[in-house]
Amino acid sequence: MPLPLERDQIQQLTEELEVIIAAHLAWFKQLNRALVCGSDLPTADLHPEAHLRSPFGLWYYTREPHPLAEYAIFQELGAIQQAMHTAARLALLEVAEGRRPAPDLYDQCIDLSLRLNTRLRNLQLDIIGELLTTDPLTGCSTRRGMLVRLREEQERMLRIQRPCSICLMDFDRFKRINDELGHPAGDAVLRQGMQFAAGVLRKYDSIYRYGGEEFLICLPGTPLNDAAQVVERIRHGLEHLPIRLPGGRVIQVTASFGLTEMHPKRPVEESIANADLALIRAKENGRNRIEIWWEGKI
Ligand code: GH3
Ligand code: MG
Ligand code: MG
Repeated sequence: MPLPLERDQIQQLTEELEVIIAAHLAWFKQLNRALVCGSDLPTADLHPEAHLRSPFGLWYYTREPHPLAEYAIFQELGAIQQAMHTAARLALLEVAEGRRPAPDLYDQCIDLSLRLNTRLRNLQLDIIGELLTTDPLTGCSTRRGMLVRLREEQERMLRIQRPCSICLMDFDRFKRINDELGHPAGDAVLRQGMQFAAGVLRKYDSIYRYGGEEFLICLPGTPLNDAAQVVERIRHGLEHLPIRLPGGRVIQVTASFGLTEMHPKRPVEESIANADLALIRAKENGRNRIEIWWEGKI
């Protein structure tokens, strides 16, 4: 599972995008002026590598890997900006030689410039949206939108005829950790524990913070037996994970898991309730274990 952006990273990237958008609009104005009036030709734009040297180019190409590389729009931006600079260079060369650019070429310059502006704004909105849908403590998705996303998975399940498993995970004796070691220690457990769990999962799996120390893991395209193996990797790994508390002390914790396959037709709330029944059973049977709710039996 890709790690979500940190809060301050979101703020910084949002500000960077604001600067890039302003620079792009200033560039667009200057280009249009040169194409229409034939004066003040931006000579830097005649260079074949102008797209690398612009503020956007420096922002886009000089960080490896770029923190936004996982966003689909980000990939698209590079292609649009390069095509835009190619069209602008050809149009400016016409003007430099005393001709007028062909209408199609002019249209391309305008369309690509406007599209770049829109895509930059879309990207900015997407990352701001992460603030609403990401739990700041653990980096997991929040409950906001969880049911909508699970219903989408259910539809996909029906369409492609592949099962989807869901699992409720609840830290064991968590109240005791808070009471004996303090609330910041509890926070450290949640943060490091869930970072570990996210690292075990695949790209298309997701984790939602369902309640205080309870999380819902969604494993699309995964039948119960396979899901049980994935969840076992989390359970076993968590048990052995050294968790460093503020102050330096290292502790180990465990969690219990209730797993079920999402029902293809019945409301997703029902499947969550079934996972919860399995979780209760895991607690009753001694904690630090996985129980499975099979259709019709537990
Ligand atoms: P069990 O093994 O049966 O799950 O016992 P438990 O102590 O984990 O269960 P219980 O539900 O009694 O306690 C959960 C505790 O989690 C209570 C609540 O104060 C704490 N908690 C919830 N959210 C947070 C959080 O964000 N940070 C911290 N530090 N504690 C939290
Ligand atoms: Mg608990
Ligand atoms: Mg709980």
